[in-house]
Amino acid sequence: MTAHELAARLAGRKLSSAELTRSFFERIKKLEERVKAFVTLDETGALAQAAEADRRLKSKEHVTPLTGIPIAVKDNMCTKGLRTTCSSKILTDYHPPYDATVVARLKAAGAVIIGKTNLDEFAMGSSTENSAFQITHNPWNLAAVPGGSSGGSAAAVAAGEAVIALGSDTGGSIRQPAAFCGVVGLKPTYGRVSRYGLVAFASSLDQIGPITRDVTDCALLLNLLAGHDPLDTTSVEAPVPDYRRVLAGGIKKLKVGLISDLMGNGIDREVKAAVKKAADLFARLGAEVIEVSLPTLEYAVATYYLIAPAEASSNLARYDGVKFGYRNKEAKDLISMYYSTRREGFGAEVKRRIMLGTYALSAGYYDAYYLKALKVRTLIKRDFDRAFDRCDALLSPAAPTVAFKTGEKTDDPLSMYLSDIATIPVNLAGLPALSLPCGFSRGLPIGLQIIGRAFDEETILRAAFTYEQNTEWHKAQANV
Ligand code: GLN
Repeated sequence: MTAHELAARLAGRKLSSAELTRSFFERIKKLEERVKAFVTLDETGALAQAAEADRRLKSKEHVTPLTGIPIAVKDNMCTKGLRTTCSSKILTDYHPPYDATVVARLKAAGAVIIGKTNLDEFAMGSSTENSAFQITHNPWNLAAVPGGSSGGSAAAVAAGEAVIALGSDTGGSIRQPAAFCGVVGLKPTYGRVSRYGLVAFASSLDQIGPITRDVTDCALLLNLLAGHDPLDTTSVEAPVPDYRRVLAGGIKKLKVGLISDLMGNGIDREVKAAVKKAADLFARLGAEVIEVSLPTLEYAVATYYLIAPAEASSNLARYDGVKFGYRNKEAKDLISMYYSTRREGFGAEVKRRIMLGTYALSAGYYDAYYLKALKVRTLIKRDFDRAFDRCDALLSPAAPTVAFKTGEKTDDPLSMYLSDIATIPVNLAGLPALSLPCGFSRGLPIGLQIIGRAFDEETILRAAFTYEQNTEWHKAQANV
């Protein structure tokens, strides 16, 4: 069931949050061996939160749509006293002394945090295979990856191990796993949701967002997450609408652009067919659908793999064995302590990013690589601006293929990087975008991406809701 369906039962006292939470832990115990979505489970903490939620529901005080609802949190968001690892050896025993703003908001709303979900180490990856601890499996086909880097969150929701979840998205890490796991994932506009307490990967791109079973839950969770936070200087003071109330507006006269550059070579035939069919349905439902071209998208992946590693190399400098996490205790002096701590603490992909980023920022290469990438980023943003002169929303596949097999791309970083070809441009431009189910290929879900203007999550949620109400895809459930 979705959060909005469960909320009605909780409010009607047909079900207690304690019963609901216990039933989730039973299901987790049954399925986790196969799915492996969680790095840390917090049954004791969750049951205490559920008891508190039940008190609120009983007294009808401070009840929100998420009071008593079990939620999973990606393990790169700080949870006070609860281990936060980023699926990295270097943070294996890190217990944050504070909550991320999004976590504090969940707690204040009375949501029940059941555990922390697996990710590619420091959110670097597209398959959740880069975790230092375990590989997460796709609930639709256990031999396939769940996508990444929020693969644990997407798999947990798809497997019914959590009602809703939080993910983070730097280049596609909410939308691509949502697409692979047949659930809804939204990356909000940069600045819409506070990043305070999100362990930084690439600070100019990172954004936290919801992963849910349907669009209504997505709107409910965004209602809670969105809004200015004085603790994050990049969070924006813009009015936040009630996203749930705007869903039913319909899409008559909405101008929708299908991105032709993401419907050509390199995109799976069945994925293209499903997205084309979705665009046709938008037209039948009253939208005006046109084709648009954003020629600079061709350079997005290359641009991202300069900017994101550059920022990562700087952000990850703090893991040196001094202040947090793992330290090599055998080292004889400070410099060799730095070396051995980082050599042993980071996995291969993280090291690759640090090297790429350090190189792109180094004297003599800064102008040729990093600065050039920033300029191309501006061109990509302008392409989107032009498209939004003519359109209210843009459509594309969320990923070029359905979920691939575990191990299929681990030896080929470039082909792994290309699985974000449709999502990365959106982060570079700072725009909001959502993925929702629009079909199946070989038994695996296909994701439709809807991109909106900056701070116009409203339109994409409304378009997504209208599509969802006129299709059955979201009703299909993975049979783990
Ligand atoms: N797959 C991309 C990367 O590896 C995006 C990851 C993300 O959005 N966190 O960088």
